[in-house]
Amino acid sequence: MKRKVLSIIVISILVLTNCRTVFAEKSSADYKKEQQQTQSASNKAKEELENVEGKLDTALDEVSKVSSSINTVEEEISTLSGKIDELDKSISEKEKDLSEKETMLDERLSAAYMNSNDTYLEALISGGIVNFVSNYDMIKQIAEYDNNLINEVKDAKKDLEDKKQEVETAKSEKESKSSELKGLKAEKQKKVDALSSEQKEIQNKIDEYDKQMASLKKKEQEATKKEQEAARIAAAKAAAAKNSSSSSSSSSSSSTSTATKSSGKFLWPCPSSQRISSGYGYRIHPIYGTKKLHAGIDIAAAGGADIVAAESGTVILSSWGYNGGYGNYIIISHGNGYTTRYAHCSNLYVNVGDTVSRGQRIAAVGSTGSSTGNHLHFEVRINGESKPPLNYL
Ligand SMILES: [Zn+2]
Repeated sequence: MKRKVLSIIVISILVLTNCRTVFAEKSSADYKKEQQQTQSASNKAKEELENVEGKLDTALDEVSKVSSSINTVEEEISTLSGKIDELDKSISEKEKDLSEKETMLDERLSAAYMNSNDTYLEALISGGIVNFVSNYDMIKQIAEYDNNLINEVKDAKKDLEDKKQEVETAKSEKESKSSELKGLKAEKQKKVDALSSEQKEIQNKIDEYDKQMASLKKKEQEATKKEQEAARIAAAKAAAAKNSSSSSSSSSSSSTSTATKSSGKFLWPCPSSQRISSGYGYRIHPIYGTKKLHAGIDIAAAGGADIVAAESGTVILSSWGYNGGYGNYIIISHGNGYTTRYAHCSNLYVNVGDTVSRGQRIAAVGSTGSSTGNHLHFEVRINGESKPPLNYL
């Protein structure tokens, strides 16, 4: 019945002090969950990015292939242009040759006819009819010869012009091929541009997720700190209430408590020594000579040896002085009503409110308070009630 009333009081305190935390603020677990969701969204975006980058690589490859095809065709066009220039030059040479030959023939023929007026004709007549015929034949043959020459040049020129026509046709084919390839390249480039902007967008999204993750992590840490603080206050209040309410008959009060320690066991609090000089239980007190419960174990160790936190938690007491025989001592709250005590210390390294981690150095072995030599007096308490420490180590 008393326990029930106590529970109601504790719950009331928790609700009163933490209602804002419970109903308005998100817990560290909420933030952890949000981080997981953000992480999985980020992972999805990263997969997407990989996919887009793969496509982009392919598209860039295609653009580069088309570009190199365009270069090849442009080179071919330039070669064909060179050929056309050469052919033009040859054709104009042939034209010059032709006009020279035609002039020459004209001159020969007109010379023959002009001469035929008097002296040339006289020469023909005076030489007799036979000579006239042979001279006439000679002129005729010369004319024929010149004509043949002219025709040969004309044929050669015609061949060159045909050839030029062929080359020009080939060139214009290549030119249309080039403009076709340029169109294709523009199309592929458009695809590259689209993929690039998609890539940028996804990258921005990933950056945004990273920022969110950092912010959520910070919020989670803040929430965890607040929760530990609330647990510390609750534990301290529960312990205080327990101590003041009853000290008799407490055989079953710990049955509801279950350890939530990360490893299931506390860490040995004095790394340099395993020697227990006095165990837990009723004994004759070494100084007072009375039968009394020894609420912890004594671990004999050198003065100044390290004392470490048996489990992570919050320091709820760090006190210098005689302290009713404890000497300089520390109490750490681990949540769920669990506390550990470290007594007779020569030095204390942590203060009330500090968060300590499992194995963190918190004090030094000494012989302060009611003590006959250097040792660590170590206690485990659940809801303020001492327990045999070896059951928890
Ligand atoms: Zn002791």
